Amino acid sequence: MNDIVIVGGGHAGAQLCVQLAAEGLGARVRLICAEPQLPYQRPPLSKQFLKSQTEALQTQRDAGWFAGHSIQTHLDDPVEGINRELRCVTLASGAVLSYEHLVLATGTRARRLSWLPPALQNVTVLRDAADAWSLRDRLNRLLTNGKPLTVLGGGFIGLEVAATARLMGLQVRLVEAGPRLLSRSVSPRLAEFVLAQHQAAGIEVHLNSTVSSPKISDGYLAGWHLNGRPETIDELLVGIGGTPETGLAELAGLEVDDGILVDPRMRSSDPRILAIGDCARVSLLSEAGRGHRLRLESVHNAVAQAKIAAAFLVGGAQPEESVPVFWSEQGRLRVQIAGLLPPEDYETVVHPGKNESSFSLFHYSSEGLSCVESVNAPGDHLNAKKLLAQR
Ligand SMILES: Cc1cc2nc3c(=O)[nH]c(=O)nc-3n(C[C@H](O)[C@H](O)[C@H](O)COP(=O)(O)OP(=O)(O)OC[C@H]3O[C@@H](n4cnc5c(N)ncnc54)[C@H](O)[C@@H]3O)c2cc1C
Repeated sequence: MNDIVIVGGGHAGAQLCVQLAAEGLGARVRLICAEPQLPYQRPPLSKQFLKSQTEALQTQRDAGWFAGHSIQTHLDDPVEGINRELRCVTLASGAVLSYEHLVLATGTRARRLSWLPPALQNVTVLRDAADAWSLRDRLNRLLTNGKPLTVLGGGFIGLEVAATARLMGLQVRLVEAGPRLLSRSVSPRLAEFVLAQHQAAGIEVHLNSTVSSPKISDGYLAGWHLNGRPETIDELLVGIGGTPETGLAELAGLEVDDGILVDPRMRSSDPRILAIGDCARVSLLSEAGRGHRLRLESVHNAVAQAKIAAAFLVGGAQPEESVPVFWSEQGRLRVQIAGLLPPEDYETVVHPGKNESSFSLFHYSSEGLSCVESVNAPGDHLNAKKLLAQR
């Protein structure tokens, strides 16, 4: 009997398969993927994957591994509905699969610009392999024709693509509406350093900037006004964040609020349905976090939550909350973050590194060390994880 159905073959879904296979439960698992590929690593898509036409997707486990553990995979066949009463899901192909436990690992979808038509030929987002193949072709075309790339959004994905394109030799213009880069995720001090590095690398960065009056011609975005000045657009990458993919959960009547709401064991408001990874918003277990809910978008979080879900499904003990970790590669910058930046009222101690582009920022709140941001300082990052785990 296939009684554990996992919806979404991303980092969280793949890791859950690994955990359940290690427990000898592979034959009870079905992994349902909307994409035509087996689960693959997403982080390279904004980095090395774009640089070389021959770079392949890095699959997490190959078809032989899934077959060897008797895990049935359904590719290119998204789940379209959940029937909680009958405990079954319906796939786009019409197949109906029943479950004892259902795990939603549906990730996020890229936010798009509401004021642009949806399918413009020279406007793209970057979320999955299809987007990355298309973006790679576009970057190479720009390079051949000596045309610039425009990136809208100074978050991690926008900056990673901008830095990669610049390393490839492209002219890059980055437009950010807010007063600084990475405003949702790093300290102002780190954001300032990142800005200076990208500017020094030759990326034209526009902060506090507004875009208006898009000019659409023959299915292309031909131009717009940037801060009131007309500009032409050759290719635009929209990198303005993602929204949790909660449509299925909402249709099924689960509790959703900026993510599928789950308890510390990853159970949704229906205890037979779990949610993990980018799509889940969890109530925290630790004393410090009690009463708070958190939704993180990172590989580390997807893997950690898959382990918690696996422990629940096999009747094991609840694993301890692990220190949140994130990394980003932007050209020659490797940013690593351990812990969570307090929203306000924190003090920062700078640890200089081996050279001027290597350092760490140790942030202390009233409860002690809360977060360490390291730039080109992997040793500090390792120590930070240990220190934060002891708290
Ligand atoms: C370009 C890029 C670069 C990144 N770089 C980093 C990085 O450097 N460091 C880092 O920590 N994180 C990075 N991330 C974030 C990280 O990849 C995500 O946090 C992680 O993939 C989340 O895993 P997940 O399984 O929750 O979601 P995903 O990996 O997004 O997987 C969700 C899957 O569910 C599928 N799905 C959705 N709906 C359905 C349905 N109805 N039926 C079946 N399947 C469905 C989707 O197609 C998708 O394949 C990056 C993300 C991107 C896009």
